[in-house]
Amino acid sequence: MLYVNDIFYSIQGESSYSGYPCKFIRLAGCNLECGYCDTKEALDIKNSKPFCIDDIIKSACGSGPDSIKLIEITGGEPMMQNESLELMSKLIKLNYKVLLETNGTISLKKVHPNVIKIIDVKCPSSGHSKEFFFENLKCISQNDEIKFVIGNKGDYDYAKNFITEYSLDSRKLIFSPVEGAVSHGEIAEKILNDGLNVRLGVQLHKIIGLK
Ligand code: SF4
Repeated sequence: MLYVNDIFYSIQGESSYSGYPCKFIRLAGCNLECGYCDTKEALDIKNSKPFCIDDIIKSACGSGPDSIKLIEITGGEPMMQNESLELMSKLIKLNYKVLLETNGTISLKKVHPNVIKIIDVKCPSSGHSKEFFFENLKCISQNDEIKFVIGNKGDYDYAKNFITEYSLDSRKLIFSPVEGAVSHGEIAEKILNDGLNVRLGVQLHKIIGLK
């Protein structure tokens, strides 16, 4: 049984899959409380319903056309619920390309190897930069992506230093400015000046007015 906040079909907006149609399963509950969280309704388990895995799969796969084989497990923090591992494995068996959005604070060791992990490294403005689970750096494959949500210049410097310190420059990296806190242009300029090989995240789904 998994607590589900929402199941929907939309445009993926925050990774190298940004722009592609995608089915989403938003699981409820999170172990953090970031000031900039834009999915606060998913943090409280009260805003969810328990579903068995087969019913979730039926509902999510049916939320969009059969031709769409991209599906994302998000939250909240999906790794808070153990059964999310089984859900992902079953979706892989059904030939879905599975994306997992996670805040990086819980072990990812048991996640199916074919799942594409989009792992947050929390920067200081989140209030949770000390909670990253460093063992997760050992579970990152070439397909996975590492996302830094940037709320101010201090966050930018933190992210830049983190990449150097943990030799992540050859990984797929995303710098995603917090809407309204820091301008995309400012972060873009810094990325260009510093010659960082990172993707500027722009939350495409919000620009086009979708969830
Ligand atoms: S980890 Fe993600 S879902 Fe949890 S509070 Fe932070 S932004 Fe929200």
